[in-house]
Amino acid sequence: MEKQRVEFVIEKQKNIALIAHDNKKGEMIEWCKKNADILKGHFLFGTGTTARMIAEHTGLPIRGFNSGPMGGDLQIGARIVDNKIDIVIFFSDPLTAQPHDPDVKALLRIAQVYDIPIANTKATADFIITSQYMNTEYTHTLLDFKHNVEQRANTLDINI
Ligand code: PGA
Repeated sequence: MEKQRVEFVIEKQKNIALIAHDNKKGEMIEWCKKNADILKGHFLFGTGTTARMIAEHTGLPIRGFNSGPMGGDLQIGARIVDNKIDIVIFFSDPLTAQPHDPDVKALLRIAQVYDIPIANTKATADFIITSQYMNTEYTHTLLDFKHNVEQRANTLDINI
């Protein structure tokens, strides 16, 4: 089946989502402090508790969604689908079981589907935040889902 692709542009000023599990919140706050000069040139979002703590400890403006276990990761995932989040910095805790593990997986999957830069370690976050693309537009191509839906709706054999 023919697959069409469409171009998407990540603008110069990025919409960045910040998420940290409890054992990683300190690391996230330190990382935000260290990179505050860069981060203040972009739009920041976060899951509830992470966003609140970043705001309190760094003074950076950041919009908080629900707390992660209450759907915050899914809200960020939905915004990726709507082209409203460009980058995710997610300091997840690999050593602690999370009640909302399925939501975390959903966020990681949807970030892959939409080819979103996503860091789940501090080193990756450092590489992303110092990338030349932080100061420029970045164009990437995604599967044309609209075309894909149309094509599948027209060609799927449903036996009726
Ligand atoms: P929190 O959620 O920022 O509200 O703690 C993060 C998460 O657990 O995904």
